[in-house]
Amino acid sequence: MIAYSIREIANVCGGKLLLNKESSISRLLWDSRSVYDASEGLFFALKGNRHDGHQFLYQLVDKGVGNFVVKEGKIPDGLRDKANWIEVQDVLLALQKVAAFHRQHFSAPVLAITGSNGKTIVKEWITQMIGNDRLVTRSPRSFNSQIGVPLSVWLLNDKTDIAIFEAGISQPGEMQRLEKIIRPDMGLFTTLGQAHQENFTSLDEKLHEKLHLFKDVKTLFYNADQLLVKDAVRQYFPEKNLLSWGRSKGVTLQLLEEHELDDKMRLELSYGGDVFYIEIPFSDKVSVANILPAVLFLLYLGYTPENIAKRTALLEPVAMRLELKEGTNRNLLINDTYNSDVTSLEMALDFLAQQSRKKGMSRTVILSDLLQTGLSDEELYPQVANMIKEKEIDRFIGVGDALMRHASLFDSNARFFETTDELLRELPSFRFSEEAILVKGSRSYSFERIVGQMELKRHATVMEVNLDALTHNLNQYRRILKPQTKVLAMVKAFSYGSGSYEIAAALQYQNIDYLGVAFADEGVELRRAGISVPIIVMNPEEKSFGQIIEYHLEPEIYNFRVLEAFNKAVAAENREEVPIHIKLDTGMHRMGFSEKELDELIFSLKQKPRLRIKSVFSHLAASDSQEHDGFTKMQIETFEKMCRKLKRGLNTNFWMHILNSAGIERFPEAQFDMVRLGIGLYGFGAGKIDSLRNVVTLKSFISQIKPVSAHETIGYNRAGTLNRDGRIGIVPIGYADGLNRHLSNGHGKMIVRGQQVPIVGNICMDMCMVDLTDVNAEEGDEVVVFGDDYPVTMLANQLDTIPYEILTGISRRVVRVYYRE
Ligand SMILES: *Cc1c(COP(=O)(O)O)cnc(C)c1O
Repeated sequence: MIAYSIREIANVCGGKLLLNKESSISRLLWDSRSVYDASEGLFFALKGNRHDGHQFLYQLVDKGVGNFVVKEGKIPDGLRDKANWIEVQDVLLALQKVAAFHRQHFSAPVLAITGSNGKTIVKEWITQMIGNDRLVTRSPRSFNSQIGVPLSVWLLNDKTDIAIFEAGISQPGEMQRLEKIIRPDMGLFTTLGQAHQENFTSLDEKLHEKLHLFKDVKTLFYNADQLLVKDAVRQYFPEKNLLSWGRSKGVTLQLLEEHELDDKMRLELSYGGDVFYIEIPFSDKVSVANILPAVLFLLYLGYTPENIAKRTALLEPVAMRLELKEGTNRNLLINDTYNSDVTSLEMALDFLAQQSRKKGMSRTVILSDLLQTGLSDEELYPQVANMIKEKEIDRFIGVGDALMRHASLFDSNARFFETTDELLRELPSFRFSEEAILVKGSRSYSFERIVGQMELKRHATVMEVNLDALTHNLNQYRRILKPQTKVLAMVKAFSYGSGSYEIAAALQYQNIDYLGVAFADEGVELRRAGISVPIIVMNPEEKSFGQIIEYHLEPEIYNFRVLEAFNKAVAAENREEVPIHIKLDTGMHRMGFSEKELDELIFSLKQKPRLRIKSVFSHLAASDSQEHDGFTKMQIETFEKMCRKLKRGLNTNFWMHILNSAGIERFPEAQFDMVRLGIGLYGFGAGKIDSLRNVVTLKSFISQIKPVSAHETIGYNRAGTLNRDGRIGIVPIGYADGLNRHLSNGHGKMIVRGQQVPIVGNICMDMCMVDLTDVNAEEGDEVVVFGDDYPVTMLANQLDTIPYEILTGISRRVVRVYYRE
């Protein structure tokens, strides 16, 4: 591993060094939550939208971190002589300078990939195909941001034969900075699309910004079917070696024909006048789009078409998902099949820590050898062993000969197996119970067999929840908020149907400021599961006041009865300074104090010194509807007026909040101190943020297919017919699962093999039937009830209701499965 002296690093950053002890630096740290090894580590106190690394300095010094880069004037007085400090004006820029400096030490060829889609897949596929011949150093997962790129480039080392880094941008000006860090020799532009368009005035502007990455490359690969790209590339870079792919004539690698064969695709390609064929084990269009640049790159490296064809046939899907499943014996399974690298292991271990805080859960890791990491075993496995130790893993099980050879690095009770089969034979003897178990294997180890043995198999209708999409949506909202505005996430009604603890834990990990629940039991459940964020209970019932106080929940006080009763409960427990939140009615006419009641409220609160007013809030009745904008503005004004009166009357200050999801988008001027985000987290916005993602997918499968002739009837009351000879499929989801019975008889549709199929007959309690006559479907095929391809909004329109009702109506018996990408 390469190390630099702290003096050298201070120089590179252009910072002022406060030196306590000479030190060398080989590790860059940026996330205080995942510091597992402090030795030779340098922590960059980065300030994000919400997280500020400067808040964690004491904690990090305690963990043994000895070197820091901080903003000028931000060295805590108590720590000045406890570590080395580099003061800079811009911490992120310092990180980038350090990476750029590191980059200069290496001459291995560097390929930079940018584009709106496909960056990660193209990078991973190239690595899959050449990774056994050369040591490829690459961006972990999709680390392609202003922070991700420097951290990726830092992985360059003496053994690197070739490096592949992704670069992604969301705002003008960012690519210049990434270019200086990556200094690519070769460039690859996947596609130009609409992603992150909101910060650019035009597609042209975004294209020009992206092309900046390639200003000094010698060779550039691009998609010539995109005319905008083709013209720009030729105009700007006439002197470069330009290699293109696409269907159009005159490209370097031309796609002549594609044939779909079951689950494969056979492609006829032309290169340098020769025609050749490859097969890929995928049949979707996106895979075709991604394989062409990868093949072109291999051709450029000198691989022959025959050789490439052998490799494309063996490609594996790039699994970005980290799945959370319920295991047998109350175990929690985290399944990660990502083509392993050290950073992804670290991220998975963090996720394990985050999810295992549930009471009494110990942590277990089942890990295979890490393949194609770009590190030698001698460097890799000590790092792995260290992480396992630092993350307080209780049981470690390793599979593969490299791990076996390095067994001595691990705890004495760690167990090792040469193959997955050997582990499978021994699996029952481990008697896993109430453990959080991370199962992470490179694909060739087929760890899905381990997961298959350990997962709890139930009713096969599942609701999948994409925790990364949830985080993405949260960050989209944060971006349009002022930096000081706090965010309360509403997790009432089982987090809009998506689950309680898991969602709250993910939000807590993202430093959410507050959570909101409807009833005290929901809050108690979260507290018992280890959620420590402040929680407001919107409907505190008198009988739950004891629990509210005991579990540090904070009640919404909406009338005098509740105010008096809660005060009494607080006095009985002899507590002081108990936080409450006062609800005002500004026009919704649901809960809350009205304007007329303010004088009495002030009088009453003055008699209750045990209660501390943490916030005062109100709720908008029609924040999503333009037609009522006048009314909404009136509500906001009334709210301000009432708050002013309260502040004056009580001579105290408190936070104010009134905006829900749609309000955040449509009335940004009314953010006050906090906002309450609900449905927007799930991707249902008011139209101003165009990059929200779907979070929840409801899926089932076809349990049986049978032929039905034109004159036969289907289901209860003989309500369904096909009107022609055809086939129906039985799907094990019914109205008891939350599938609204009004979707019967063709009113609703589901997705099978990418096609919409109508529901036939009446929906039953536990199942329903779909018309499969026009689809080439088989038993066992997946059926999507709603998700990316069939949005909840569509279903809501059909049922004349709103997405809220559909989401919260999915029964608790439907298993929730969580995953990260
Ligand atoms: C449910 C709720 C919200 C969140 O509303 P969304 O429309 O889902 O954003 C905010 N505030 C209160 C008081 C709520 O009950």
